[in-house]
Amino acid sequence: MNGPRPSLDQARADMIEYQLRLRGIADPRVLQAMAEVPREEFVPDWARRYAYADEALPIAHGQTISQPYIVARMTELLAVRPGDRVLEIGTGSGYQAAILAHLGCSVVSYERQAELAAEARERLERLGYGRFVEIRVGDGSLGDPEGAPWPRIIVTAAAPRIPEALREQLDPDGGRLVIPVGPRTHQELMLVVRRGDEWQETSDGPCVFVPLIGEGGFPG
Ligand code: SAH
Repeated sequence: MNGPRPSLDQARADMIEYQLRLRGIADPRVLQAMAEVPREEFVPDWARRYAYADEALPIAHGQTISQPYIVARMTELLAVRPGDRVLEIGTGSGYQAAILAHLGCSVVSYERQAELAAEARERLERLGYGRFVEIRVGDGSLGDPEGAPWPRIIVTAAAPRIPEALREQLDPDGGRLVIPVGPRTHQELMLVVRRGDEWQETSDGPCVFVPLIGEGGFPG
């Protein structure tokens, strides 16, 4: 027998409470963005009912949309201010970019898979985020020197080490980089804060991402 299925609105509210707030996500603006961006629009049709499950979900081309908690945590660590320009590497579904756009950022996002980029572009347009997110197809692992210095950089794929190019492209005046670093199987979520010629690195704990493939990442 099928019991009544909880609505997506209920699932979203539960996600905010149990997956985010109770696990320590405290920034009210991050919680609000996670409550307002419809994650079900970023997953394949068959997965809509699992959109608020406590896990990463497959999208196309062997890639994944990150678990809600990790999206929220990365966003919190990035500490964006409205109006910030953000460089994202790894557009995927476009969900992380939508969260950042919702927080008032203007996002340049790189995706190496052209089809994923096209789908994300169409989706963000349809949801009203098109003006705030520019999606570019290509290897983003060496960043975007023309847009540097970047106040904020977020890498949503795993890198073997922190790419030197990304360090250099961070704004010396408190620029922040959030990036999963480690071998292909498991990584640590790293926060890098630049002040002048000093880069302070802190680990926020373990995580698992699909690999960053490219010059600053893993071989394809
Ligand atoms: N932020 C995404 C999740 C990204 S999954 C979301 O919210 O849905 C990681 C993505 O990084 C994949 O789509 C993968 O194709 C992409 N990727 C991997 N290496 C890349 C590179 N060097 N440049 C740009 N995109 C890359």
